[in-house]
Amino acid sequence: MNVQARPGCLDAPVLKQRGQREVFCGLTGIIWLHRKMQDAFFLVVGSRTCAHLLQSAAGVMIFAEPRFGTAIMEEVDLAGLADANEELDREVARLLARRPDIKQLFLVGSCPSEVIKLDLSRAAERLTTEHAPHVRVLSYSGSGIETTFTQGEDACLTSMVPVLPHTDEKQILMVGSLPDVVEDQLVGYLRDMGIPVGVLPSPRRDGAPGVGPNTHMLLAQPFLGETAGELAKRGAKHIAAPFPFGVEGTTAWLKAAADLFNVPQDVFDRVTGAARQRAEKAVAQVAEGLRGKSIFFFPDSQLEIPLARFLTRECGMTPLEIGTPYLHREHMDPELALIPAGPVISEGQDVDLQLDRCRAARPDLTVCGLGLANPLEAEGLSTKWAIELVFSPVHGYEQAADLAALFARPLKRKEAVKI
Ligand code: SF4
Repeated sequence: MNVQARPGCLDAPVLKQRGQREVFCGLTGIIWLHRKMQDAFFLVVGSRTCAHLLQSAAGVMIFAEPRFGTAIMEEVDLAGLADANEELDREVARLLARRPDIKQLFLVGSCPSEVIKLDLSRAAERLTTEHAPHVRVLSYSGSGIETTFTQGEDACLTSMVPVLPHTDEKQILMVGSLPDVVEDQLVGYLRDMGIPVGVLPSPRRDGAPGVGPNTHMLLAQPFLGETAGELAKRGAKHIAAPFPFGVEGTTAWLKAAADLFNVPQDVFDRVTGAARQRAEKAVAQVAEGLRGKSIFFFPDSQLEIPLARFLTRECGMTPLEIGTPYLHREHMDPELALIPAGPVISEGQDVDLQLDRCRAARPDLTVCGLGLANPLEAEGLSTKWAIELVFSPVHGYEQAADLAALFARPLKRKEAVKI
């Protein structure tokens, strides 16, 4: 028999663990989604705990009339004494009367609304009829029972797919919310190569992209498994590519789209060449502080595998364990193929067991949530807060060196303290 070894970590066994977890729930996605969709409002149907979570995650933004809020379920609702639907309708009517700028309203499910089985998708249908055509109401779950952190965005975008208009045009649909400056750069490269591009989510409801059998989806974020599945139901095809982190990832991601549209190599080089060279130089400088250092990822955002690929191949780091809350094989295989065999790939979490592995490995740098960072620092391990990787502009050529710098900074600080 002829056994062929496949490249990198493609055949690495995946350590799957379920136990106590240290992760955010999907409600946190609202923090960046509401900034992206400028005519949307996110109404969490939840408890005071959910409202507190949003307040602490959003920090200072709560003072700036944000486009999200919590309809707090009181004890009478939980005990089934009040008709929660009637109350919800009343709250929504009050909100829409006060905020005529809202064109899309998302009812966001939470643990309490799910436990009492409040049917938010029916409520969304009812409220859409009531407030059409001015406002469209959709629903999704951001609860901790169903979603982890960035999966909240996946659930939100999934809820939008059925209401996107139809198109037969051959086009790229870039999927995933990115900071405006990054989105403009990436979409700019594609358009400069003559490729028609739509973006999901769009800043406004009227600008929603079309989807159809000639749509090819290019995922900008690694946590969009459900959205991709829903788009496939509308005929869209997935483009297999690494994610646009670092120079190599960005080039491969753009090239996958260019090849599909038969863009000649010289056009591709003309559009991307200068930015690519600038980024290579900038990354090489920052990578000096990372070369030869080991890194351990706790699961958080699903960005872990693409980031480990970038740090290994462009910055010379050695990953010891790459934890992800969820491993979507089809979307992640192009990444795993690029990571040299060696690290433990783990999916899900039993936090105590994972902490034991981390302590035994003594990595130079540990990427983890805020809840673990300070305790690990106290044990002498350098840490990088994972949440910053989701909130900072990190995709594309222009941000590649900044991305490397996010990892280099804690190591530099440690060196400085030693001196
Ligand atoms: S949705 Fe669940 S996990 Fe998230 S804040 Fe509310 S109660 Fe907590």
